[in-house]
Amino acid sequence: TPSKEGKMFIRALFDYDPNEDKAIPCKEAGLAFRKGDILQIMSQDDATWWQAKHEGDANPRAGLIPSKHFQERRFALRRPEVQIQPLKISNRKSSGFRRSFRLSRKDKKTNKSMYECKKSDQYDTADIPTYEEVAKYRRQPNDKYRLVVLVGPVGVGLNELKRKLLISDTQHYGVTVPHTTRARRSQESDGVEYIFISKHLFETDVQNNKFIEYGEYKNNYYGTSLDSVRSVLAKNKVCLLDVQPHTVKHLRTYEFKPFVIFIKPPPLDRLRETRKNAKIISSKDDRGTAKPFTEEDFQEMIKSAQMMESQYGHLFDKIIIGHSWIQPKLEANQQAHRLAPHF
Ligand code: 5GP
Repeated sequence: TPSKEGKMFIRALFDYDPNEDKAIPCKEAGLAFRKGDILQIMSQDDATWWQAKHEGDANPRAGLIPSKHFQERRFALRRPEVQIQPLKISNRKSSGFRRSFRLSRKDKKTNKSMYECKKSDQYDTADIPTYEEVAKYRRQPNDKYRLVVLVGPVGVGLNELKRKLLISDTQHYGVTVPHTTRARRSQESDGVEYIFISKHLFETDVQNNKFIEYGEYKNNYYGTSLDSVRSVLAKNKVCLLDVQPHTVKHLRTYEFKPFVIFIKPPPLDRLRETRKNAKIISSKDDRGTAKPFTEEDFQEMIKSAQMMESQYGHLFDKIIIGHSWIQPKLEANQQAHRLAPHF
């Protein structure tokens, strides 16, 4: 929504160079921008060409940019696979997370851990990123913290990073408690390791869109609820949440205002060096046992990161190279603290 002063800002989700745009009525009148730039809209009177300027640019002269509708149409024409999808958009909005449900069902046969099956979402091409409306946000003293969402390929160290941040300041950081339908083990307490609920209740909650993500593992459901995030935020803590990248768009609400951090693997040689003594639960291993990284795991990680970045890069607020905290050295602590100011 436009801010109080009536100014409207958008974030560009693609690169634009008017000099390469054959459709623009006058190249000199165009405004060049890069993916991630914040633009202020000066006029939307024309359906095809909006007038905009870069945020904070003192120069009052606005330039032409393609309107959202126009640019979406151009992108769709360039990407034939997108054209067959649009109907699904409205479908998916209302059905929430049913999609991953189906995927996890399919995965039941192979009995793989559910974190892996969602890879199929790499083929999600229904969205055509052009612009999104944004509003300036300045945290007021009584505001809850923004949700911090961590995204990255398997093996990049999301859990390790979460753990390090948590122990660095237990008063400041918190993580969600997942729900499960499996029986409580003797050493576990309800609400600590998991929130234990019945299958029936779990299925009802799924129907009611109460989960951010969920899956099935060994005939039980596991999942993270929206309420579990709310309860961390209600304690006035920064909630650290790692999710599959396709769920990020569901979390981007006014309530959560998520700050999305992509943890990217370092180059191959650094990857080998930093993971020398680390272990990974490989997606190829049905039993889910942690083993030393193989060369294949590294390739897989890099490939998966590239796909995530090309498909979901427009949703990332920050990119961090995931290597330092893997090594139990001084460097690890520095990295953890360097993260803090962004929250
Ligand atoms: P366990 O029953 O041994 O505590 O956990 C078994 C498996 O459940 C984990 O390895 C993980 O794959 C899965 N799991 C645990 N928590 C969650 C969750 O919040 N969401 C999903 N999708 N899977 C989970």
